[in-house]
Amino acid sequence: MDGNPKREWSLNDFEIGKPLGKGKFGRVYVAREVKSKFVVALKVIFKEQLEKYRIHHQLRREMEIQFSLQHQNVLRLYGWFHDSERVYLILEYAHNGELYKELSKKGHFNEKQAATCQGFGGLCNRSATALYILSLTKALAYCHEKHVIHRDIKPENLLLDHEGRLKIADFGWSVQSRSKRHTMCGTLDYLAPEMVENKAHDYAVDNWTLGILCYEFLYGAPPFEAESQVDTFKRIMKVDLSFPSTPNVSLEAKNLISRLLVKDSSRRLSLQRIMEHPWITKNADPKGVCN
Ligand code: AMP
Repeated sequence: MDGNPKREWSLNDFEIGKPLGKGKFGRVYVAREVKSKFVVALKVIFKEQLEKYRIHHQLRREMEIQFSLQHQNVLRLYGWFHDSERVYLILEYAHNGELYKELSKKGHFNEKQAATCQGFGGLCNRSATALYILSLTKALAYCHEKHVIHRDIKPENLLLDHEGRLKIADFGWSVQSRSKRHTMCGTLDYLAPEMVENKAHDYAVDNWTLGILCYEFLYGAPPFEAESQVDTFKRIMKVDLSFPSTPNVSLEAKNLISRLLVKDSSRRLSLQRIMEHPWITKNADPKGVCN
């Protein structure tokens, strides 16, 4: 699987295994490339669905963006092909599935719970949560360097590979942009104030989302959750942030969250500064080899 864009793939190149899941537009199966035995995830999307929802352009944009990205924390798209009825995406296989499932199972992550790194024979004294945030920060720094804003980072879009390494998946809402954008998109709870207000926005929307995710990992729910969408909008606009007394979360983690959930996007902590933040340096060791 070298991700060669010139390579013409077909269904005959793959042995199809068990279904991995069902998304809005199709199903995902584990599959093995016949010649190399390389295991991948094959996402099958019906053309009829693409036509019904008029999302050909969005899918093409998603494929082109994801294909161009090569980072250990971004799910690889190796290639794609189609037949008369379906489009097939050849994706990196994330053996441990959605991070969201792990989060729902545990309720929230414990700040101190150790990562299950394979790098040191399974021994690692780094915190899994801090490592997730560091991996996301590194992946976003890479995306931003390539002028890609993700805009839809949420636990459902984060997958885990066989070593528990985090992978950003699903580039459906991302854009390649050098200037400020105006479209309103993304999932409500994760929206930055400038997006809620439908104002121009830039890379800093992803930094806001990192703050939301860090909060959700540690407390088990996003910070501005409310009964209705209108109330969530209001809470986001006011940055109505509070930290419950349980679970017990360190002051450093709260400090990081507070410095990301800042209304003025130009004053949010930069990705570089996140990597240098004491909560990250103490708990995730940014210079370490495994993430
Ligand atoms: P999606 O259509 O992308 O929402 O995918 C539907 C489900 O399939 C997801 O919820 C995942 O559980 C699973 N899935 C999608 N992509 C992969 C992958 N690359 N590796 C493993 N599981 C995946």
